[in-house]
Amino acid sequence: MSAAESAPEARRALDPIWLGRGIALVAGVLLVLYPMLSDNLYYQNMIILSLVFAIAASGLSIITGLAGYVSLSQGAFVGLGGYTVGVLATHHPDTNVWLWMPVAGVTAGLVALILGFVAMRASGPSFVIITVAFLFLVQVIAINWRSVSGGTEGLSLPIPTWDADIANWPFYYSLVGILALQLLLTWWIRRTKLGTGLVAIRDDETKAATLGINLPVEKMIAFIASSVLVGVGGGVYGYYLTFIDPRGMFNILLSVEAMLALLVGGKATLWGPVLGAFIVEPLNEYANNNLGGGNTRLLLFGGLLVLIVLFLPQGVLPAIESLLNWVRTRGRAGLVGARIGTGGSLASLTGRLSLVDRAAAVDPPPPLLEVKDLRKAFGGLKAVDGASLVVPEGSITGLIGPNGSGKTTLFNLIDDTIHADGGEIWLAGERIDRLSPWTRAHRGLGRTFQITRLFREMTVLENVVAAQRSFSWGQLGRIAVSGSEARAAEELLEYVGMRSFRDQKARALSFGQQKLVELAQVLMLDPKLILLDEPAGGINPVLIDRMSGMIRELNSYGKTFLIVEHNMPFVLGLCDPVHVLARGHTMASGTPDQIQKDPAVVDAYLGDDFVLEDEHERTVR
Ligand code: ADP
Ligand code: MG
Repeated sequence: MSAAESAPEARRALDPIWLGRGIALVAGVLLVLYPMLSDNLYYQNMIILSLVFAIAASGLSIITGLAGYVSLSQGAFVGLGGYTVGVLATHHPDTNVWLWMPVAGVTAGLVALILGFVAMRASGPSFVIITVAFLFLVQVIAINWRSVSGGTEGLSLPIPTWDADIANWPFYYSLVGILALQLLLTWWIRRTKLGTGLVAIRDDETKAATLGINLPVEKMIAFIASSVLVGVGGGVYGYYLTFIDPRGMFNILLSVEAMLALLVGGKATLWGPVLGAFIVEPLNEYANNNLGGGNTRLLLFGGLLVLIVLFLPQGVLPAIESLLNWVRTRGRAGLVGARIGTGGSLASLTGRLSLVDRAAAVDPPPPLLEVKDLRKAFGGLKAVDGASLVVPEGSITGLIGPNGSGKTTLFNLIDDTIHADGGEIWLAGERIDRLSPWTRAHRGLGRTFQITRLFREMTVLENVVAAQRSFSWGQLGRIAVSGSEARAAEELLEYVGMRSFRDQKARALSFGQQKLVELAQVLMLDPKLILLDEPAGGINPVLIDRMSGMIRELNSYGKTFLIVEHNMPFVLGLCDPVHVLARGHTMASGTPDQIQKDPAVVDAYLGDDFVLEDEHERTVR
């Protein structure tokens, strides 16, 4: 074989995905074989503890790694599992202790549900603090509820009755099994629409809500999914210890170590938390045995955390992966410059969009969107001050007004990105101003942003599949990045001409490309009404023409638009009716002709020198 032929082989061998799978397989086999090959109890103990942390960290990778909510309550779920098993086993001495393990999982899940109701209202640092407070709260309960928990004296579990030769095996192998289940759960969630939704929440929660992602439900599922198996693992851990007490079981260090394992290994990876646990826990043992434990241990963990944050912010696994990718692609040109496609035709779209025959339209069309006396003040600034407007069904309605007149804020109120102070919003005959942003999206409202808000760390395709047209439990479990969802998304990307970019990260796109992807993303909702905030702003003239072509075509198939735009020829050539906003209220509405001739509008906004008919005087900004 020539060198030229063997090079690709070598590159494939270095493919991080296959290499990773190979290493995981070997490590898994070694893990399973270890107790049979060696009866060194010291190392078996170390592995058992590492497994407990690996379960806790892998669970954490759902709520913290995927959804971006930093939780320090993992230690509490380990403790709850341990105590559930401990309490039940001491009260029912004749029942096999293993039967209580699923109950430990259920307890953890239920408590996560209750905690979730409280904690999920907070975000950022306040969420972290609530989870820490919760850990201390359950510890205090365990200390004071002596009749059940035994108080500070703790609880002694039944001594295992099985053969001393295999003393650790049942603990060891059940933890391996629980870890496998947790990894399977994490792996599966990452692939579903739920998983894409969680990453969307991590990247930009407000934007996620406008794409129909049901924030409380998705965060709650993530929180429960990150605690149930941790509870089961905690149950096994408690049984393994045979003695549990509140200070040992509800220990903040358990939470901190799980978090550290997640950060060291790589919070956004499947195997990172496992690798991290098998690094952090042995280090912990070493510090305890050889460095005197206590403060040395804290110093060690603190130092490790600083090193990770400074040098490997993504964690060990992602660092290795990018190194391998660099080796693999070294000497080759980067991505072959993908180009914006010519775009497909709407008629060839099969799945996603409901297209309407406009011949059946009624005349005059009923209002699709009606905004009445909408108000929003930021402190003393009345950004939207009694704005009222109607968007007739099937129209391309324009919304113009000077900078700062409240156009973007009006959009924010319509889709509840910002909550209105007062006024009414009606969509297709239904009052929607009390509905959540995701319900508004499900009712048929889609919206793009003036400054695009794609999920930067997702690929273009993932960005489009992140949109959720409706809420159903079944849809959450649907696989997102392959199958029918992905096919619909690819068709829409083809339509806007961005299919060849499907695997690129959104952050690598130009502004104009982002505008196109955001349009595809919103179309994934199959909205009745699409709000576009400056679709022609900041993009080149060719794209502007493409954009207006697509708007026209989508409109001819029944989509209604409300468009904010500064490019006057664009608006006046495309939109009818046009509303004019000034200082937060609608000062005029009418056909483009009427608007251009309205002396008040010309005075306030268009300027004396504005003449649409003269192509050379498109100077209005
Ligand atoms: P437009 O889109 O018409 O240019 P905006 O709706 O963005 O105008 O802004 C209207 C006014 O409200 C501006 O004076 C702006 O500074 C203010 N504003 C907008 N959003 C906020 C906010 N989140 N907090 C405070 N002031 C805001
Ligand atoms: Mg604006």
